[in-house]
Amino acid sequence: MKRVLLSVPHMAGTEMAYVEDAFRTNWLSTVGANLMEFEKAVEQWCGLPGVALASGTAGIHLALKLLGAGQGDEVFCQSLTFAASTNPIRYQGAEPVFIDSERRTWNMDAQVLREALQARASIGRLPKCVEVVHLFGQCAEMDDILSVCGEYGVPVLEDAAEAIGATYRGRPAGTMGAVGVYSFNGNKLLTTTSGGMLVSRNEAWVEKARFWSQQSRDPGIAYEHSELGYNYRMSNVLAGIGRGQMEVLDLRVAQRRAIACRYRDAFADLPGLTWMPEPADQFSTHWLSVFLVNEERFGCSRDGMIRALDSAGVESRPVWKPMHLQPVFASCEKFGGNVAEDLFRRGICLPSSSSLSMEDQLRVVNAVRTAAGAGALSALEDVAETRRV
Ligand SMILES: *Cc1c(COP(=O)(O)O)cnc(C)c1O
Repeated sequence: MKRVLLSVPHMAGTEMAYVEDAFRTNWLSTVGANLMEFEKAVEQWCGLPGVALASGTAGIHLALKLLGAGQGDEVFCQSLTFAASTNPIRYQGAEPVFIDSERRTWNMDAQVLREALQARASIGRLPKCVEVVHLFGQCAEMDDILSVCGEYGVPVLEDAAEAIGATYRGRPAGTMGAVGVYSFNGNKLLTTTSGGMLVSRNEAWVEKARFWSQQSRDPGIAYEHSELGYNYRMSNVLAGIGRGQMEVLDLRVAQRRAIACRYRDAFADLPGLTWMPEPADQFSTHWLSVFLVNEERFGCSRDGMIRALDSAGVESRPVWKPMHLQPVFASCEKFGGNVAEDLFRRGICLPSSSSLSMEDQLRVVNAVRTAAGAGALSALEDVAETRRV
């Protein structure tokens, strides 16, 4: 039987025509119409100008540079995330300081952030910026975070790598802080196989990031460079894939949400298995469908469930391992309790590809139900795509 994978690319069908355009016109470098149109399409969704880059990681790196994070500086960062949020802090010679998550959104706890900012303000050592992550397609509590950061005059960087398509109180993910970054990696909701985009309402910053991403080549005919540069620009070929993908953003979000809602409904009778909560004022994409396992009530541990699913041919994985538990960041300071740790130890991500057939969703559901010792279902309800919690 074919293995059900966690999150696979899902092409719209129009991508190839844009890629062929690039070949036909021989714009096979980091310049061309696909790049301009891809950036325009993202701007149409989020309302801010952006620059297409080789990866989300590159975007975070340039965002940190824009916000002035450098040698000896500190950057406050959500601990519960993927290493790509944090690694670029070190590229800049700065040090991450980790902030715990809250249970409502699973993202940065604004109260813990306030305590950390207070502690640093009292020794006259505020961080260069606060990096918030919108995990699994769900936004952090941005109004609280922006208001605390505003009090201390510290800018916010939004790692919206997992959250294109999501909104917070009607505002698109990635547009609420000083700089936002999206990822178009192969397992994200939309993909260019590899890629990212940096957006900001500060147009000069977007232009600066564009300049840095192309080796910081000064104007003029000579190859003169007054600043350090990077080779971070996206290729016009891959931007063609992005153009096609942006045409189906709403559809992909609806498909991922429908899968998450079907899982939620199919597990409603299982004790000890709880859905990642979606606050009423948020619109999560459910890039990944995530659940928390209470071993005692569910009858099987989280790791036991991953193993059981694996032998049923279903891929699953734990929630991200918090950065403060990572050997590479062992020396970093951390504020808050153990929420991130608890979510990591009990959280499981289930197959969430927008292309997942009803048959495969039923396979996932029944593999989970079997692990819980519950009866299998014979069919899944066809839930309305936008149905709320
Ligand atoms: C995927 C991801 C990134 C990095 O994006 P790439 O395009 O893979 O470099 C950054 N942060 C988070 C939270 C991610 O999930």
